[in-house]
Amino acid sequence: MSDVIYVVGHKKPDTDSVCSAIAFAYLLNEWKKGGCKIMKVDKEAVPIIQGEPNAETKFVLEKFGVKVPEVMTDGDGKTVALVDHSDKVQSLDNIDKAEIVAVVDHHKIGDVTTPNPILFVNFPVGCGATVLKFLFDTTGVAIPKDIAGLLLAAILSDTVVFKSATTTPMDKEVAEELAKIAGIDDIANFGVEVKSKLSDVSGMTAKEIIMRDFKDYNMSGKKVGVGQIELVDLKMIENRLEEIYNELNNIKQEGAYHTIVLMLTDIMKEGTDLMVITDEPKIVEITFGKKLEGKSVWLPGVMSRKKQVVPPLEKTFASL
Ligand code: MG
Ligand code: MG
Ligand code: MG
Repeated sequence: MSDVIYVVGHKKPDTDSVCSAIAFAYLLNEWKKGGCKIMKVDKEAVPIIQGEPNAETKFVLEKFGVKVPEVMTDGDGKTVALVDHSDKVQSLDNIDKAEIVAVVDHHKIGDVTTPNPILFVNFPVGCGATVLKFLFDTTGVAIPKDIAGLLLAAILSDTVVFKSATTTPMDKEVAEELAKIAGIDDIANFGVEVKSKLSDVSGMTAKEIIMRDFKDYNMSGKKVGVGQIELVDLKMIENRLEEIYNELNNIKQEGAYHTIVLMLTDIMKEGTDLMVITDEPKIVEITFGKKLEGKSVWLPGVMSRKKQVVPPLEKTFASL
């Protein structure tokens, strides 16, 4: 087996997978130096990733001055520690030919197995970084400022700034403690900054914004299209609305839609600005109880196309 422990998150790495790998490698190295009451560590630990980090993760690493880990995809003959997953399909290729010495996760238990007892810590919390904070604390290892920043960012990313239903009180408590160490005063504000990196649509054309997640429906014989874009703050596309509306109109004409809808969903405000172009404007009022004046209507609490927009629209079309 390899003479180092490779610490790795899942394929298509997200911020938790990358930052938790970095933090756990640091922790394992502290355990190697100072001893650990849970497990014996006699190899140096190195964080790795299975693919290029996304824009959000790159921002986070840059912000805290931590370099991007090397990419590695094959586990054959390697000693490894897994974070943020325990499923073979998400893990390194040939994971069956690796020696797994630890798993730190927050998902359903996957299908990796080991011949010997290992450190296996899985909490049903919103983020793997929350579990890592627990491991630092329980083994008495101080968290450096940069690592605290990474772990905080991971929690804010995985929990969508505590809006996700997966969020637990432990995630919030741990995030507050990490924010103090990292010197982040406004957690929510930092969370929005982190999440905004993946909702940056500035490089996209209006058509790309509309079509990134767009579905066609047949509603009682009428052709209806419903697209959705999720943003941390609708202000991010405020100056594109006219352009998007015009493009939506083009798509309606070219595709011979009866009605075309674009959900501009604000993750933080937990609502959707519904842009609608239709041959029968009254369907908006019938469906959502709000009159379409101008380009759109604001629908508080509406976040889901498949649960909150398509079924009521279908019901309205069936009643016309
Ligand atoms: Mg993940
Ligand atoms: Mg995670
Ligand atoms: Mg995730």
